[in-house]
Amino acid sequence: MSGGAGGHGLLGRRGRGPAELDVLARAAGRLERLSLYPRPLDTARVRILHVPWLFRLPWFRRFAGYNMGPLILLRRPVGEVTEDLVTHELCHVWQDQDHRVRMWLSYLRCGYARNPHEVEARRAMRETR
Ligand SMILES: [Zn+2]
Repeated sequence: MSGGAGGHGLLGRRGRGPAELDVLARAAGRLERLSLYPRPLDTARVRILHVPWLFRLPWFRRFAGYNMGPLILLRRPVGEVTEDLVTHELCHVWQDQDHRVRMWLSYLRCGYARNPHEVEARRAMRETR
């Protein structure tokens, strides 16, 4: 296999393209203003991936984006999503970096809609516009 930014696997394209790096930098710049957690958000390993097949599965159908660890998974290509959506998902990346286990347990306990991590991510998106 050769390297480079080409190629489309199950998790979308390899390598971070300019559109991905651009929206990531803008979203990170917005979140930096909030100082939500003691350690700054680390975007070095964050990847934004377009994985349309995932969002056809029953649990994921309701979402436009989904965070898993350092991955931001998108229903639409990165060039077609709003900076707001990436800011929301990147807030979850920061939550995950600060307290991964507690975060995932909260989704088991509180579910999705009223989860404090969702409330925080929605507020982070709104307050940095
Ligand atoms: Zn969310």
